[in-house]
Amino acid sequence: MARTPLMAGNWKMNMDHLEAIHLVQGLHQELTDANFDYSKTEVAVIPPFTDIRSVQTVVEGDDMKIKYGAQDVSTKESGAYTGEISATMLSKLGCSFVVVGHSERREYHGESDALVGEKARVALAAGMTPIICCGEGLEVRKAGEQVSHVLAQIDGALDGMSADDVKKSVIAYEPIWAIGTGEVATPEDAQEVCGAIRVRVSELYDAETAEAVRVLYGGSVKSGNVRDIMAQADVDGALVGGASLKADEFAKIARFDA
Ligand code: PEP
Repeated sequence: MARTPLMAGNWKMNMDHLEAIHLVQGLHQELTDANFDYSKTEVAVIPPFTDIRSVQTVVEGDDMKIKYGAQDVSTKESGAYTGEISATMLSKLGCSFVVVGHSERREYHGESDALVGEKARVALAAGMTPIICCGEGLEVRKAGEQVSHVLAQIDGALDGMSADDVKKSVIAYEPIWAIGTGEVATPEDAQEVCGAIRVRVSELYDAETAEAVRVLYGGSVKSGNVRDIMAQADVDGALVGGASLKADEFAKIARFDA
């Protein structure tokens, strides 16, 4: 089964709603000018919560094929949870994706693998695709323990998920030492862990599920390095931070095979 590549731009806490409109319009224009084929590569932006309604309005108003999502979701459906945003709220805004377990949420908000898995299940139940993030820090990498570290995160996050749920999910391998540092993992480093994740999915589920699940690489991806990363057998796309904040650069990343 051929997996459709996914290029997702995680804006983090950048761009107010006016800047968001401008950025999405710019991205759409760049891709339209390049005759971009959205059936061959999915393109998504992941703005802050406050931008999502504006992004929805511009995407739907101009009939764009760019998809969008959120950077986090509550595990609660509704009620007295000040500051939280539910999966239903996000799906009603037309979100296709929800990033769960980004290393910044794990670090600053103490998110565990179990919580990440719960968020993924909540997103799936609301009809959205979770982008389940995993990745090792520099100390783990220096000790050569990146594969076992990431597989333990995957075991924890996928615990309780059905094969069907996993097939619909996206896993993003993001070595923390490569996020926002300009330090990119080599294509071989990316393949080593992305390949190991796919093998683990086949062990936990079956070959069909492992073939279906998309595994992204993230960490200082740019137009200049995306092609070599995408050439790896088990890399099905990229989760892009800084380079997704510029329309022309992110469009070039989406056109990695042009
Ligand atoms: C990210 O935070 O998901 C990320 C990959 O950031 P950057 O591309 O800036 O390294």
